[in-house]
Amino acid sequence: MKNLSDLATIKKLLTRHGFQFSKALGQNFLIDPSVCPRMAQECGVNAQSGVLEIGPGFGVLTQELAARAKKVVAVELDHRLPAVLAETLEGFENVTVLNEDVLKLDLPALIREQFPDMPVFVCANLPYYITSPVIMKLLEERLPVQSITVMVQKEAAVRICAQPGKRQCGAVSVAVQYYAQPDLLFDVPRDSFYPAPNVDSAVIRLTVRDSPPIALGNAREGDFFRLIRAAFGQRRKTILNALSGGLQMEKACLTKCLEQSKIPTNARAEQLTMEQFGTLCRTLFQEEP
Ligand code: SAM
Repeated sequence: MKNLSDLATIKKLLTRHGFQFSKALGQNFLIDPSVCPRMAQECGVNAQSGVLEIGPGFGVLTQELAARAKKVVAVELDHRLPAVLAETLEGFENVTVLNEDVLKLDLPALIREQFPDMPVFVCANLPYYITSPVIMKLLEERLPVQSITVMVQKEAAVRICAQPGKRQCGAVSVAVQYYAQPDLLFDVPRDSFYPAPNVDSAVIRLTVRDSPPIALGNAREGDFFRLIRAAFGQRRKTILNALSGGLQMEKACLTKCLEQSKIPTNARAEQLTMEQFGTLCRTLFQEEP
């Protein structure tokens, strides 16, 4: 098995395949030998389960996943990489590489076809330029996956894991936590990558919930997410002003709904708990039976 954390091995591969890193595709490859085994361990895969990896690069994490899982499907956009992966993953019979854009894939169909009757986990060192769209696609499509363990920018990790009601909470924290329970697992400094990016990273695990943590009554999920976007759209404004602008609603009507939901009109979005967002959503959007 090739040691893909070894810089000399990476440089030989670069030369042999005439490969140059693409900044546009977020290509910073892991070279700290402790990170991939830890990610593969903590993502929860075992010999009975399948793993979906996004962006295998040269395959440093793929090797660790393949050693633990029944099957790995690795989706890589860069058309130059399948040839490299054929070499670096030689001997692993349980890996399928798909040369596709993860954002354009029909993931429910992929999971049905590739992982019949297997618990499925997602594990990836994500390209940072598409962190939020990828995470939200995985969650919103309600894929039958147990958890999503991903490396993201440190700042994004902190934001995603911030509890609603706490200062660092944003729209993405509430949206992610509607679908999953987040845990910040460990930090990964920038010099763990080649080439080194300008920012530090962290690994988070999102354990997918069986059902949302709040009840919306007969209000629609779309309305809940519209409410969250409006509330955090102008996070320095009071909730009353942010919502009247973002939802285009009369202040008098909003004031009544906020009071009914026991939320002070001068609160800021970051001060509201998940339960308060749920109550407000029902008060604003629930239809009379
Ligand atoms: N897993 C490798 C590692 O840890 O060293 C590489 C991670 S690198 C940060 C991100 C990888 O995602 C690159 O290989 C890049 O080509 C790939 N990628 C970028 N955009 C993608 C997309 N839309 N769909 C699938 N893969 C993508």
